[in-house]
Amino acid sequence: MRYVSTRGGATPAAFLDILLGGLMNDGGLAMPERYPQIGATDLAKWRGLSYPELAFEILRLYADDISAGDLKKIVDKTYTAEVFHSADITPVRELEAGVFIAGLSNGPTLAFKDVAMQLLGNLFEHALVKTGSELNILGATSGDTGSAAEYAMRGKRGIRVFMLSPHQKMSPFQTAQMFSLQDANIINIAVRGVFDDCQDIVKAVSNDHAFKSRYNIGTVNSINWARVVAQIVYYFKTYFAATQSNDQQVSFAVPSGNFGNICAGHIARCMGLPIRKLILATNENDVLDEFFRSGVYRVRPPDRVQQTSSPSMDISKASNFERFVFDLVGRDSKAVTGLWRQLDRDGIFDLSRTPHFSRIADFGFVSGSSRHADRLETIRTIYRKFNQMIDTHTADGVKVGLEHREPGVPLICLETALPAKFAATIHEALGCDPEVPYGMEGLERLPQRFCVLDADEIAVKDLIARSCDARAA
Ligand SMILES: *Cc1c(COP(=O)(O)O)cnc(C)c1O
Repeated sequence: MRYVSTRGGATPAAFLDILLGGLMNDGGLAMPERYPQIGATDLAKWRGLSYPELAFEILRLYADDISAGDLKKIVDKTYTAEVFHSADITPVRELEAGVFIAGLSNGPTLAFKDVAMQLLGNLFEHALVKTGSELNILGATSGDTGSAAEYAMRGKRGIRVFMLSPHQKMSPFQTAQMFSLQDANIINIAVRGVFDDCQDIVKAVSNDHAFKSRYNIGTVNSINWARVVAQIVYYFKTYFAATQSNDQQVSFAVPSGNFGNICAGHIARCMGLPIRKLILATNENDVLDEFFRSGVYRVRPPDRVQQTSSPSMDISKASNFERFVFDLVGRDSKAVTGLWRQLDRDGIFDLSRTPHFSRIADFGFVSGSSRHADRLETIRTIYRKFNQMIDTHTADGVKVGLEHREPGVPLICLETALPAKFAATIHEALGCDPEVPYGMEGLERLPQRFCVLDADEIAVKDLIARSCDARAA
């Protein structure tokens, strides 16, 4: 499998060549040159597979430059009941006939990002041992990416993590998860600004090719292709869990921010998984809902991003969205380059009166948004009716998912975090605290390790250089 850039200006590369990188050299995102097609025979074979077996079958289609033996070892080491607290890895539960919750958040940091990040940690280790090199991971997080990355990389030889987060804008539990890590290879940087300031710094540093190669900078933010590919697996796994036979269609409701999770759903659908609708849910920061309703993609200025009670979806622009637009415009990289040039200049592009947008239904996408009051109401309803607590992000997905529910089509709502991460809102909705999973009691009282910087590319580069040079000296 070769990977091309959405902007068409990079040499096609293999999986291991793009694994450690972020943006492609032309500023675009890596995409497989084609999607492998899964037929009825494959689906029949795959239905009975365990999670690691299924992950192996799907990943080997995309990572064909890793030997089958090595890949098998990597997935077997990653997807264990010890790490994910369930042999199913992503167990599915039925709320009522035809409505399911897919539990993607049973990994070490209680959010779905662990599913991909734990794999990434083991893939990175594999690649670095092969080449004998070191890696400095630079990431931006609004909460869940950062902790998932840090728990996947902590203590790994040859890897250092520099994680930028918006200062004082994560939940206390999220903050504690990251900042309480005492591993020397984990460096937490709280940036005075919002998530997009952090993401812009990561992009700027990644675009400084000299700095990037001098300090072996890699990224783990949601544009990393391996994360997207890892997420394809649970669309298949949960499809099998919610259906009896492979001629059934299902719809997925996906709480969305940077468009990484639902991008994996889009790819699973393009591969041939019988997905009827991909229901995209946003919170008050509804830039993606606006696009899927109107064809207008209008990024918000960072100071217009609202801080909400589903903070991992507080984004002004969606970094993986370019991957979908690449497919939407028929993989015309000139068109994508033009659209993103316009976006950089004007902050907006409009596909509403183009033939592309009229085909949006062919891709199965529908959307909706959810506000604080909806979130509280949904958390309450699910608790009263089914005696189950769901987190604020999952609640956004359930709310919008139910609005688009169709008779006879099973609806699978992706659970992207556990309620323990967002205790304040759970308390507001239900008047009681969420259960804290075993081993995480008292996390918020542990000593914290982090530094605070202005939203300044130079300051961040300085810190990286100092940390690396200090170690070399
Ligand atoms: C990251 C995250 C999301 C958004 O996922 P994207 O892949 O960025 O669309 C939703 N919910 C939670 C809990 C998250 O951590």
